[in-house]
Amino acid sequence: RKGTAVITGASSGLGLATAKALADTGKWHVIMACRNFLKAEKAAKSVGMSKEDYTVMHLDLASLESVKQFVDNYRRTERPLDVLVCNAAVYQPTAKEPSFTAERFELSVGTNHLGHFLLSRLLLDDLKKSDYPSKRMIIVGSITGNTNTLAGNVPPKANLGDLRGLASGLNGQNSSMIDGGEYDGAKAYKDSKVCNMLTMQELHRRYHEETGVTFASLYPGCIATTGLFREHIPLFRLLFPPFQKYITKGYVSEEEAGKRLAQVVSDPSLGKSGVYWSWNNNSSSFENQLSKEASDAEKAKKLWEVSEKLVGLA
Ligand code: NDP
Repeated sequence: RKGTAVITGASSGLGLATAKALADTGKWHVIMACRNFLKAEKAAKSVGMSKEDYTVMHLDLASLESVKQFVDNYRRTERPLDVLVCNAAVYQPTAKEPSFTAERFELSVGTNHLGHFLLSRLLLDDLKKSDYPSKRMIIVGSITGNTNTLAGNVPPKANLGDLRGLASGLNGQNSSMIDGGEYDGAKAYKDSKVCNMLTMQELHRRYHEETGVTFASLYPGCIATTGLFREHIPLFRLLFPPFQKYITKGYVSEEEAGKRLAQVVSDPSLGKSGVYWSWNNNSSSFENQLSKEASDAEKAKKLWEVSEKLVGLA
């Protein structure tokens, strides 16, 4: 049978390119889990995906109720779940003030980390039940986790500190930042990506042996043209793609990045669990090293426990 992969945020950028790459193989049915139904349908059509290769389902990660609703709706379809890709993200580098999710968590960490944390925990049961030979859960990471690159060291750097802001609810009253510091939209995004990478490793430690599920993260390269930078100042949006193409040489097209993530979904040679994948300039994959903080097992455990409380699992 065809594999079924759920991809969050498949209505643009990397998620859409991955959906397309998987659909093109003829071996996958893609569930596009998106907050904007119409946009997702149009996006799927615009890249030429055929109707039998995908289903759009509503999911707004900025609402824990919506996450639960999605899981219920998914179960009602009675489709098996073979691969889950946590891809959606918001990035608000120029915001002066924090904004919040439905449950009043700062929006970037609330969406990118907490929404996906609840989704992945709930859907783990469904992955367990699947009889697919290589079941995988992938959480898209970022360069913030690479200590061996210049881009991973650009300020403001990610830092979760002792998680005091997260533990106090991340609701703006005590703090809207995980480390309890002043709001900084760019840092909030980077912090959320560190959470994504820590969560993937904690899932691996807790569940890989028991379930046989492969847990992985990746840095797909700098996809400088996606909607992620939509809230950046116009000059940045103009100069960022050529800067990445010709100066840092980290640039990768949406299509190429989609092929990379599709490899992590289905390539037999990328089936190892607990790995953070990256690619060389010649597009060959390798197991990358994570930064000190993004591989701190103590912090991963603490993050897991605090997050469980916030999303109502503990
Ligand atoms: P895009 O902005 O193009 O895509 C992000 C997707 O997330 C969109 O489909 C968006 O939906 C969706 N989304 C945002 N908020 C929510 C929500 N509340 N509920 C459901 N979906 C939501 O960015 P990219 O494709 O670049 O980003 C995809 C992933 O790649 C992210 O995890 C990002 O961190 C990562 N990444 C990107 C890099 C880059 O250079 N671009 C580099 C490294 C990692 P909508 O279409 O409705 O806006």
